[in-house]
Amino acid sequence: MDFRISKEQRAFVDVVRRVCQKEFKPRAVKYLDGTWPAENMKSLAEIGVLGMAVPQEYGGSGLGILDTVLVLEEIGKVCYVTAMAALGELGVQTRIIAAHAPESIRQRILPRVAAGQAMLAICMTEPNAGTDVPNYATNCDIKGDRVALNGVKTLISRADIAEMFVVFTRVNKVPGAAGIGCVLVPGGVKGLAAKASFHTMGGEYLSEVVFENVELPLENLVIRDNGMKRLLSAFNTQRCLNPAICLGLAEGALEEAVRYLRDRSAFGHRIGDFQGLRWKVADMYVEIEAARGLLYRAAVSGGEFPDPTLAAMAKIYCNEMSIRVTSEAIQIHGGYGFTDEFTVSRYFRGARYGSLGGGTTETLRNLVGKKLVEQMDLATGMLDMGMF
Ligand SMILES: Cc1cc2nc3c(=O)[nH]c(=O)nc-3n(C[C@H](O)[C@H](O)[C@H](O)COP(=O)(O)OP(=O)(O)OC[C@H]3O[C@@H](n4cnc5c(N)ncnc54)[C@H](O)[C@@H]3O)c2cc1C
Repeated sequence: MDFRISKEQRAFVDVVRRVCQKEFKPRAVKYLDGTWPAENMKSLAEIGVLGMAVPQEYGGSGLGILDTVLVLEEIGKVCYVTAMAALGELGVQTRIIAAHAPESIRQRILPRVAAGQAMLAICMTEPNAGTDVPNYATNCDIKGDRVALNGVKTLISRADIAEMFVVFTRVNKVPGAAGIGCVLVPGGVKGLAAKASFHTMGGEYLSEVVFENVELPLENLVIRDNGMKRLLSAFNTQRCLNPAICLGLAEGALEEAVRYLRDRSAFGHRIGDFQGLRWKVADMYVEIEAARGLLYRAAVSGGEFPDPTLAAMAKIYCNEMSIRVTSEAIQIHGGYGFTDEFTVSRYFRGARYGSLGGGTTETLRNLVGKKLVEQMDLATGMLDMGMF
């Protein structure tokens, strides 16, 4: 087994790391008030990051999931808001457009995504159903060669600036999971209204989005007829990308904590001389490396999409690890750690997001638990675990 990343991956991550450390790190604090990180997105487009999920024929690089994990980890290490902004172009919405949109839409939007000129929004969550996808109320009726979309989505990232909305919707009012499909809605169409309604503890704004009789060509309904399974399998990729940001946040917090151990004194010693605090950073590091192993393995599992169980486990572990590690980094900083002036509080705010978006850790535990209970080979009493 070779655990090393390739020379090409290392070279690309080095470029990303330099930009992150030099440009993004000093700017990170200013995005806490909801300012969009426009200058960082421009830099990410220039070095080729925003085109990573865009196939080569549309101006991107079409790189793999592990490459994307490595890059989001670097960005997460310095700035949660920028990592989340980049996730919008590296994640599920770009992949759905690349895989399912008609050629005319791909040609129009994907080169603009790669160039950092078009932002995308994914609209799943509704006021009365988030995790509960089969009960979405948003509906898209087919009327000849047109569709009409009606409904309300909420907690949507980037909706105030998005050039295209990837919307999960019921089709023709068919109830339950069987009725879920996906429609692409260009920003600015008649009947679409987006309002930044919530300011998060991570920094960014989230919007409520209303679709009132939004009329579109039938070809914009890119997935219909039992689309939920296909849509959710694309989410296994997201389940590797969200934890990559968490891994980066934890790494950034550990670096801050170690620096503080070396700088701060108490009782005539560096606080880094106290065994109790050395053990804290040692445990933080152990958790980070365990998380990295699980996440990288999930990222290289499967074909088009990662293995669902590994991706779920990686997400659960990275999400919860990052809360523990960033919280310990605050503890090491004492009272200063709780202030906005010290970076560690920002890492903790960002880490708190991970277990909420892209599949909550409760629903992912449902998935892993179900697999365990249902796959047990009753004859041998063995589970299909590990690498064999
Ligand atoms: C920063 C941020 C950005 C976001 N961006 C977007 C976006 O761009 N697009 C978008 O569509 N959404 C977005 N969301 C919303 C996010 O995806 C939802 O909050 C998430 O899916 C959970 O849905 P909910 O909030 O409705 O919670 P609910 O589904 O109501 O769940 C409430 C609680 O019940 C638990 N629960 C639900 N069902 C079960 C079950 N079967 N078993 C055990 N526990 C269960 C959940 O885990 C959770 O703890 C964003 C959220 C945040 C915080």
